[in-house]
Amino acid sequence: MLKGKTVLVTGAAKGIGKAIALEFAKDGANIVLNYRSNVDDETIKEIEALGVQCLAVKADVSDFAEAEKLIKEAKAHFGSLDVLVNNAGITRDGLIMRMSEDDFDSVLKINLKGAFNTIRHASSIMLKQRSGAIINLSSVVGIIGNAGQANYAASKAGLIGLTKSTARELAARGITCNAIAPGFISTDMTAVLSDEVKEQMMCNIPLKAFGTGEDVAKAVVFLAKNRYITGQVLNVDGGMVMN
Ligand code: NAP
Repeated sequence: MLKGKTVLVTGAAKGIGKAIALEFAKDGANIVLNYRSNVDDETIKEIEALGVQCLAVKADVSDFAEAEKLIKEAKAHFGSLDVLVNNAGITRDGLIMRMSEDDFDSVLKINLKGAFNTIRHASSIMLKQRSGAIINLSSVVGIIGNAGQANYAASKAGLIGLTKSTARELAARGITCNAIAPGFISTDMTAVLSDEVKEQMMCNIPLKAFGTGEDVAKAVVFLAKNRYITGQVLNVDGGMVMN
C-alpha cells in the first residue's frame, strides 16, 4: 500500500525520526529525509538498502521559507507527497519562574510553528492530489503537562489543536491528519535525564519498560495507512496516560 509513495519525515537523521523513515522504507516508500545539522551517509545507505530511494534535504523547519523549499524539493524529485511526518522537535527544560523568553520562543518556534510551516506548504499539494496523510509527533506531556516543561508541553498541546483543525479542514479531500503522543522513548532527547528522573518515570509506566523509536514508528505507519482515522491522538506510552 505504501510501495512507491513519497514520505517526508522531518528531523529524521537520528532518534524517532530515523526509526520512522526506516519503518516506511520497509514498506516500500521512498523517503525524503529532512535534517537540520547533519546526516550520516550510513543512515541514507541503511534506508536505500531496503530497496527504496532516499533524498536527504537540509532545512530548518522553523523557517517558513526553508520549509517551503523542503516541500517543493520533495514534490519536484518524486512527483508526489503522500505522507508528511512532523517529527522535528527540541526541549529547553526549566521551571517556569526561571525560564527565559528565548527558551520559550525557540521551543514553540520549532515544535509547533515548524509543523505549521510544513503543513501549510504540503497541504496545497495534497489538496490537488486529493489524498495524503499527515502525522504530528506530540507527547503525553502535551496532554497531562509536566513540571519543568511548560514550553515543551505548550508546544505539544498546541500540536494537538493544530492536528484536529487540519484534520477538519482537509478531510473533504480525503486527507487525514493525526497525532502520536509518545511517552518515554529512549533517544538522545531522553538520554540527558538523570537516573533518578528515569526511575520516577518508570514508576508511572504500567508496562514497566521505556519505548523505542520502532514502537513509535510502527504506530505512525499504521496511521498513515488508514484512510478512516483522522483528528485522533494515539498514545504510544506503555500505558502511562489512559484517556
Ligand atoms: P532527538 O533524538 O533529539 O531528535 C530530534 C531531531 O529533530 C534531531 O535530528 C534534530 O536535528 C531535529 N530537529 C530539531 N530542530 C529541527 C529543525 N528546526 N528543523 C529540522 N530538524 C530539526 O529527539 P527524539 O527523541 O527522536 O524526538 C523526536 C520527536 O518525538 C520530537 O518531536 C519529540 O518532541 C517527540 N517526542 C519524543 C519523546 C521521547 O521520549 N524521546 C517523547 C515524546 C515526544 P539536529 O540534531 O540537527 O538539531
